[in-house]
Amino acid sequence: MTLKNKEELPLGGLIEEAGNAAEYETGGWRTFRPVWDFEKCIQCLTCWIYCPDSCIIVEDEKVKGADLRFCKGCGVCANECPPKIRAITMEEEVKFKK
Ligand code: SF4
Ligand code: SF4
Repeated sequence: MTLKNKEELPLGGLIEEAGNAAEYETGGWRTFRPVWDFEKCIQCLTCWIYCPDSCIIVEDEKVKGADLRFCKGCGVCANECPPKIRAITMEEEVKFKK
């Protein structure tokens, strides 16, 4: 991707093309990441339903984790996982950078 200079950017920095979210890897904003404990997970898919970035990966009707290229670390998935299950913990991103 080539970055535009200020003369090339649309006024107000508006995104003019619709449906282009997949082209922007916004996961770089993240300071926490969700980590699944699949021993606890009951595959209710609640985290998948609530993720505001649609980045939770489901294969064969089972949650496999999050596509970290797009996960912003908001913690909604961990918050919405049923209280008796709590299969997701939010871990500091810096732990994975070592
Ligand atoms: S932390 Fe937020 S963006 Fe990342 S998978 Fe969970 S709900 Fe989605
Ligand atoms: S909400 Fe919790 S129990 Fe349900 S699928 Fe997601 S991680 Fe598993």
